Amino acid sequence: MAQRTFSIIKPDAFRKGFTGAIFAEIDKAGFQIVGIKKLSISKAQAQGFYYVHKERPFFDDLTTFMSSGPIVLLVLEKENAIADLRKLMGATNPANAEEGTIRKKFAGSIQENAIHGSDAEETAAFEIGYWFAGYELI
Ligand code: GDP
Repeated sequence: MAQRTFSIIKPDAFRKGFTGAIFAEIDKAGFQIVGIKKLSISKAQAQGFYYVHKERPFFDDLTTFMSSGPIVLLVLEKENAIADLRKLMGATNPANAEEGTIRKKFAGSIQENAIHGSDAEETAAFEIGYWFAGYELI
């Protein structure tokens, strides 16, 4: 059964002009785009999105980074979307990411790692609802 996941093209990838190339990878992997928007978010919006990481030492840097420039928010659909997107993204630290993954190709560091993808069904539901209204998902 088709499953939905949530993704972000992060400010580093947008700034470097990798958005189109990342769309191509997502398309080639068989995902349908169900929702899409380009935004520049505030630090407070980034803090709300990443609240699960609020005790982590990198929380302040991460939320400053995520609010440093335009990002593209995506709701993606396919069978096994959550796990398949995580596989396509590669490891959090691009130094550990497998050849051919988006982070291996486009990420610069463990923080500026090009793309976000939900890690579980409950997180996908929270993340989609945080950024999108139901009528924006087509
Ligand atoms: P993900 O699910 O692979 O995105 O990784 P996590 O959920 O563990 O972390 C969320 C985001 O925080 C990552 O994608 C990175 O942008 C950032 N991050 C994770 N670990 C570190 C770290 O050790 N240092 C810094 N500066 N950022 C990190």
